[in-house]
Amino acid sequence: MSEKFGPCLEKKCSWCCDPVKVPKSFPDERIPVNGEGEKIWIDRKEIIAPEETWEVQKLKTFDCVKYNKNSGLCEDYDNRSEICKETSCIDENSPKTIDEQHKETINSKFIKIK
Ligand code: SF4
Ligand code: SF4
Repeated sequence: MSEKFGPCLEKKCSWCCDPVKVPKSFPDERIPVNGEGEKIWIDRKEIIAPEETWEVQKLKTFDCVKYNKNSGLCEDYDNRSEICKETSCIDENSPKTIDEQHKETINSKFIKIK
């Protein structure tokens, strides 16, 4: 996969990183690692689900050690992992504008399952 465009820096948005949200079945082997081979996502041990699709979609969440809570930004954005580069709230083929797509994403509501 290739890097996708995301308006993260312009919008100072870290919705995807705080917390990181991946499908419940996401394998541990795909969690990104640092130079020492240590995983950079720490499992919150919680399961959440989008309010509207909770019956079919469950997600697990992680804290990323590269996320700076004070600045609200990734500390290593240019060198972020492939999986981070491949993640975006923007679908280039969508008829909706970037603002509309971004707003829809950050306004998503979740329920806590566990
Ligand atoms: S929701 Fe969009 S702008 Fe915000 S962090 Fe994710 S990709 Fe970036
Ligand atoms: S490495 Fe950066 S972009 Fe990737 S999850 Fe962590 S804070 Fe977000």
